[in-house]
Amino acid sequence: MASIPASGRIHPFRLVVDETACRLCRRCLASGMCRGKAFVRFGSEEPPYIDMARCHGCLACVSECPFGAILRLDSGGSPVRRPEEG
Ligand code: SF4
Ligand code: SF4
Repeated sequence: MASIPASGRIHPFRLVVDETACRLCRRCLASGMCRGKAFVRFGSEEPPYIDMARCHGCLACVSECPFGAILRLDSGGSPVRRPEEG
């Protein structure tokens, strides 16, 4: 039987932190930034990990990351582009 994510939502995308772009600024880890508290940090010198089971799909983190390090990928692993990005 499939498990139900903690957020109660199953998304058609997944979010990942691009470790080559992340500058470890910790903005995404700030209290209140992520409503699902989906950002997890395993080490102070490692980029955060996004637990999609806790994600509510609001995409606030994508625009809040000042370095564009949070990527939205489709089920095939390709980046999802917004219409204005062409
Ligand atoms: S806000 Fe972006 S650059 Fe800063 S720690 Fe999070 S993913 Fe990395
Ligand atoms: S999309 Fe929203 S709930 Fe999901 S990780 Fe980003 S800020 Fe958190």
